[in-house]
Amino acid sequence: MNYTSESLVDEAYLTVSETFSTHRTKPLSWRIDQLRKTWWMIEDNKDRIEQVLYHDMHKHKQEALSVDAAGIQGACLEALQHLKEWAADEKPNRTDPVNLFTSTRIRKEPKGVALIMSAWNYPFMELFEPMICAISAGCTMVLKPSELAEASQDLIAEIVPKYLDQDAIKVVTSGPAGMDHILSKKWDHIFFTGSTVVGKIIYAKAAANLTTVTLELGGRGPAIVTANADIDTAAKRIASAKFMNAGQICLTVNHVFVDPSVKEQFIAALVKYFDLFRSGSSQQPAHYSHVINERNFNRLDRLLEQSKGKIIYGAERDAKTRYFSPTIVDGVLPSDSLMTEELFGPILPILDATLDEAISYTNKYDHPLALYGFTTSRAEKDKILSQTSSGGVTLNDCLLHMTAKGTPFGGVGASGIGAYHGPYGFKEFTHLRTVVDVPGWMEILFKFRYPPYTNEKAAA
Ligand code: NAD
Repeated sequence: MNYTSESLVDEAYLTVSETFSTHRTKPLSWRIDQLRKTWWMIEDNKDRIEQVLYHDMHKHKQEALSVDAAGIQGACLEALQHLKEWAADEKPNRTDPVNLFTSTRIRKEPKGVALIMSAWNYPFMELFEPMICAISAGCTMVLKPSELAEASQDLIAEIVPKYLDQDAIKVVTSGPAGMDHILSKKWDHIFFTGSTVVGKIIYAKAAANLTTVTLELGGRGPAIVTANADIDTAAKRIASAKFMNAGQICLTVNHVFVDPSVKEQFIAALVKYFDLFRSGSSQQPAHYSHVINERNFNRLDRLLEQSKGKIIYGAERDAKTRYFSPTIVDGVLPSDSLMTEELFGPILPILDATLDEAISYTNKYDHPLALYGFTTSRAEKDKILSQTSSGGVTLNDCLLHMTAKGTPFGGVGASGIGAYHGPYGFKEFTHLRTVVDVPGWMEILFKFRYPPYTNEKAAA
């Protein structure tokens, strides 16, 4: 693996720091230009993005283009459309006398030099969407793609300097061993997408320099299927979320709590849809992603082997190609091996639980990034929302809260700090600087302010 040397990391940091200090990334014209170029960078390289994603994880074109390409281009267009309004000064409420008579405003200033680090499962989207937010805010930045999606990393390192401002946006490559050096720099903001374990390392390193962070972390997102759910639709949507990228999605359904009265029907429907999505008898469908590397393949394999649950579907594995079929495990208890960590793979544990039990189990774990409730009952929806916490929620479907425009995407507690997408991402890279410009004539109002202090002035 070809990683950036420490001296080149130093050079990249110095270059983007110097560029920021020239103030030339602050005008909207620079930001708009870079956003347009980002859009074209994706447009011109769609075929290659598709190829490297297939190489790295056997990801099918349909998934690659809809998320890693269209998602990024959509974020560019949203930023281009709204940038002026996001970046405009805000006037506070004018009822306070200071606000009323001065030109009080909140300026949106770029935080400065950002470090953006990403995970491997959506290697383009997880790097370029935060980059779009940082560009929109007027920051300069260093991008650190995940080394595990190697072909994607190499393509990113190749195309970014060809399209974007080389003095303001640099790519460095590194594995965990080189991160100490990168994180020892004084960044003005770190945007990290990855696991909760590594997120804690990043947070601790950032604290040494009082650097602000956005941490987009993992979580064990549950789906709760109650007796009042539309069972066939619930099974179809959960199977589809688990099939996508072979379950290697931060927002995927980690496990399902299903009411015992509808479990049989639910599992039959899950099997039907997994069969359908795999195109029937095909053992290794060409349109299904593989596990990213041997370490993750072996981890999933071990968790499945140690499980006391009953494998009722799938579990076909091929260590050579890292194919791991969608797998349903029934009768899983909260103490099972499959419940010890975020699965981040195509295994779907099923736990018998009433709604109250599902809520109680869920609240025993860290707050997940996503939570899915399947029910047609309004009272049950309210109960799920009011008695649990998670980064986001989709009711009666999966993943969709991530795509809702104008909404924040992020975790809570162990699943993350901060949120992005659209205006929320812009804010993560922006310092809100309050400015009060006081006219001289206000002396008339201030005469009681100055010493010497007297009882008369105090009473006025
Ligand atoms: P990871 O935490 O292992 O790696 C993420 C990044 O951190 C990579 O760039 C990697 O090089 C770097 N890194 C790894 N070890 C490090 C260390 N010791 N010190 C400093 N940097 C280090 O995560 P991953 O395996 O790439 O991705 C999977 C995880 O990411 C899952 O937990 C998943 O839920 C989470 N994730 C979250 C989101 C989100 O938006 N919240 C999106 C995708 C993935």
